[in-house]
Amino acid sequence: MIEASVGEDGTNRVDDVRAIQWLLLRIGIDPGAVDGLAGLRLITAIRTAQDRFGVEADGRIDPGGQTIAHLTNARATWDGDSRNWPQERKLASLHPRFRSRIVRVIAALKRDGLRPTIVYGWRSVAVQRRLLREGVTQVGFSFHNAQTPDGLPAAWAADLVDDRWYWTEPECHVFFRALGAAGKAEGLIWGGDWTFRDWAHLQGRRNAELASVRRESGLT
Ligand SMILES: [Zn+2]
Repeated sequence: MIEASVGEDGTNRVDDVRAIQWLLLRIGIDPGAVDGLAGLRLITAIRTAQDRFGVEADGRIDPGGQTIAHLTNARATWDGDSRNWPQERKLASLHPRFRSRIVRVIAALKRDGLRPTIVYGWRSVAVQRRLLREGVTQVGFSFHNAQTPDGLPAAWAADLVDDRWYWTEPECHVFFRALGAAGKAEGLIWGGDWTFRDWAHLQGRRNAELASVRRESGLT
């Protein structure tokens, strides 16, 4: 997984640092850019992860140590149908830089007396293909499928509805108007603005970036 130590006073080989940055991202901790450089932000992120794992928060990851073992075991928590996951897990399945904005959108809607709930955050490419066959979606890869190169959730899209109404009369519903406004206030793209309206859908990247997100996801 890593050949030498990463973090505080570590060897910090570029490939090792990049691997750790991806591992942190997939458990929902933002290490800054995935650039292979071990800066203060990465060390802080390593300490955050170590606190979460209950190991000594020394800011450093050694090959064969406890922190790397916890980080690589995280895969086991991401199975099953993501639509049925609890809200916190759906939030954790979003790319950290998208998630922070969705958290603020949800808070804004709640302040307005609405009851936002995430239906889909991340979903696997396999589920996406099933939805394609069933005619539920028209694309084989979407921003919902974005992942780390080793296949763990880092979605750039989320679908939100009000848990009282779901998709009832979406075209005139106060919830979706509020969702669109709150999402755009956070610089997000709202599917309700599209020709084929996708009322519940917010995404953090432009449609033109889909091919690059697919490459970042380790898919060709
Ligand atoms: Zn969507």
